[in-house]
Amino acid sequence: MTSSACFDMWLDILKRIEPQLQRTAFITWFRNTAILSKEEGTLVVGLPLSTVLDRHIERYQGMVLEAAKEMDNSIAQLVYKVDGRLQDHPEACVNLLEHFPEQKKRKLPNKQEVRLAEGITSKILNPRYTMENFVVGTRNRLAHAACSAVVEQPGGKYNPLFIYGGVGLGKTHLLQAVGNAILQKSPRATVVYTTSEDFTNQVVEAIRTQKMEQVRKRYRQVDVLIVDDIQFFASKERCQEEFFHTFNALYEGSKQLIISSDRPPDELHLEDRLISRFERGMIADVSEPDYETRLAILQEKASEYEFFIDLSVLQFIAEHTTKNVRELEGILMQAVAQYELERRMPTIKSIAEIMSKLNKDPHVDEETVGFEKPEKRKATMQDVMEAVSKYYSVSIDDLIGSSRVHEVLMPRQMAMYIGKRFLNVSFVRLGETFGNRDHTTVMNACGKIEKSMNKNSNILREVHTLTAELGLR
Ligand code: ADP
Ligand code: MG
Repeated sequence: MTSSACFDMWLDILKRIEPQLQRTAFITWFRNTAILSKEEGTLVVGLPLSTVLDRHIERYQGMVLEAAKEMDNSIAQLVYKVDGRLQDHPEACVNLLEHFPEQKKRKLPNKQEVRLAEGITSKILNPRYTMENFVVGTRNRLAHAACSAVVEQPGGKYNPLFIYGGVGLGKTHLLQAVGNAILQKSPRATVVYTTSEDFTNQVVEAIRTQKMEQVRKRYRQVDVLIVDDIQFFASKERCQEEFFHTFNALYEGSKQLIISSDRPPDELHLEDRLISRFERGMIADVSEPDYETRLAILQEKASEYEFFIDLSVLQFIAEHTTKNVRELEGILMQAVAQYELERRMPTIKSIAEIMSKLNKDPHVDEETVGFEKPEKRKATMQDVMEAVSKYYSVSIDDLIGSSRVHEVLMPRQMAMYIGKRFLNVSFVRLGETFGNRDHTTVMNACGKIEKSMNKNSNILREVHTLTAELGLR
């Protein structure tokens, strides 16, 4: 197949895939991919980085094969080939942003659009918080399920819905996601999202301007009332009283109430009658996510930011950040910033530095930082040669041989560099390994790669990918 036929076919396949995936996932995982060839019944799909290979095999292979078969029923199988050149020559690939421009999202009604007259304000919901991008784990499953049920049937069985848990564990995310989802389904619904502090300010203002009666009336027209962080009502009796009446009126009108707090209802310093109202409904907690959930959240966030980060680095963050999700996200964001500003790919070491700067994890010690997990077999020079040979599609014979064409020379220098820098093999020994070359040749080769790394982010990325693959970082 000619390369333009490959291109067209891949574009057609992508058009079939795209509607089946979340946009961020589509852009993240299909960026810089291409059909490399089609021979007999085998379609060879090229991926730019080995880090995306597993994901394709696990999630997308079936989907892609099916789409390919629909277009050409002679295709029987699909194989992947990691080809770093795709990353450097994106013109060979379908430009996703050009061919799949972002559809303007329907603007969610904001506080003007829900036409709440003066006296009530709803904070604008953050569209970033959705039910879909909330990662469900063992410790938040119930809360998520209850929220989904509320989206299905507001004012139904789970009313009021009370979500509690410590800071940064996803309460606001869930509450706003419910609001967003209800508005998606019923754009005309009046959804008010407020915090107990905002509610308090409104009550105080209404009292001052003697408009309490109006405010009360308006609140009673609300379909869904979401009050975040209700613990701040403590010791504000007048507000509690107003809220109690609003609560009752809405509840009796089968309107949905959703409340969050940092502790369970019976530990809140609120009037008993209010607490017993909360206890009538559904109560669910969110607590600290376990390791698997932390890792899944990191993967989700990295993919939302379209940020490639090694699994081993994500695992490191997930292992060492145990408390709250906001902290996890903060570390990831720092890593993204470091990459965007300085083109520094995150490594376990750089993440450990970020963490100690943020004072997040005093337990990270030099030993864990410097080396991979000890149970891993350390890579040998043979492994390095194999990995380099595979990555650049150059045979090991060529790596050792005497050819000086760029396609061979650069990978040879790369293998030498990794051997020296990461395996600490001596220049002399490396010279012997690579076809009995002089040690000065090896020194020059290492110097070349080091220089290129400073100038050329592709080389840096290749070093990163290869050493990560070899478990050397
Ligand atoms: P809380 O309101 O409980 O203090 P937030 O809802 O503000 O916490 O969550 C803090 C950050 O962590 C947000 O950016 C949120 O998107 C993220 N987050 C928390 N839990 C999850 C989860 N299970 N899946 C995805 N993101 C989460
Ligand atoms: Mg919150």
